[in-house]
Amino acid sequence: MHAYDSAQVATSPFGCDVHTHTLYSRHAYSTIAECVAAAKLAGIELLGSTDHYSVMTSTTPIDCPTYARDFQYFINFNIWPRIWDGVYVLHGVEADIVDLDGHLFGWDITLREGITGAAFRNASTLKKYVWRTIDYAIASIHNSDFTHEASLAETTSMYIRALEDPKVLILGHPGRASVPFDVDEVLLAAKELGKLIEINEHSFNAKYAHRSVPTCRHIAERCAELGVMVSTGTDAHIACDIGRFDATRTLFDEIHFPEELIATRNKDTFLTVLDELGARQR
Ligand SMILES: [Zn+2]
Ligand SMILES: [Zn+2]
Repeated sequence: MHAYDSAQVATSPFGCDVHTHTLYSRHAYSTIAECVAAAKLAGIELLGSTDHYSVMTSTTPIDCPTYARDFQYFINFNIWPRIWDGVYVLHGVEADIVDLDGHLFGWDITLREGITGAAFRNASTLKKYVWRTIDYAIASIHNSDFTHEASLAETTSMYIRALEDPKVLILGHPGRASVPFDVDEVLLAAKELGKLIEINEHSFNAKYAHRSVPTCRHIAERCAELGVMVSTGTDAHIACDIGRFDATRTLFDEIHFPEELIATRNKDTFLTVLDELGARQR
């Protein structure tokens, strides 16, 4: 339960919130319009909407010919105003890492028809179909079952492989996934690739705090020491959480985290980092 009254307007300490969810995620509760309005109220210049792109949002069997229809939310992103009521809005996904090779959800799901039922001339994968319209992806682990027998070398290379995907910009909540990995190795790979390590506000939630906070703190400290850029995201699943970064800001203050390593500190910095990927839709 939240400790604040939602009538208390959030004032974001960062110009961007690039990890947020809408109703589409099914266990989230706000529309994109409500998220944009909340971002504006919180003083956010740039909002990244990053709904779950994973098994979580569909109950259709994967081999069903109409499977693509469960993902059509993503494919019409271009009708959103890029600047919506003064807020710059990016189209993202939060994609599940699904195996130790660092593959992202849908990479191996073949589609033979699109949402109208018309057959594709060439079969596509779900990932190709959905990712055409996105500006960036956050790669996260939600179901870690496949990592339970894995060595540290395997989980480390899994995260690096996921970061190597051209549209993956951010490694999502690595401090909360309960998957041990070689922190320095992954951080240095992210730096080399121009990718970002997420410090996720939701990981400080009381539900996970006992196991997540020490890991998040260690990751943030090593990012500061190794000069690795981070991304901050509330991971809001309801509009009134957008822009509330109390725990992240407190952690950064405590460890004197360098402001220049916060890619989300303002819109221009984030867009500069994003454009290095060359994935932003024009
Ligand atoms: Zn979620
Ligand atoms: Zn999320």
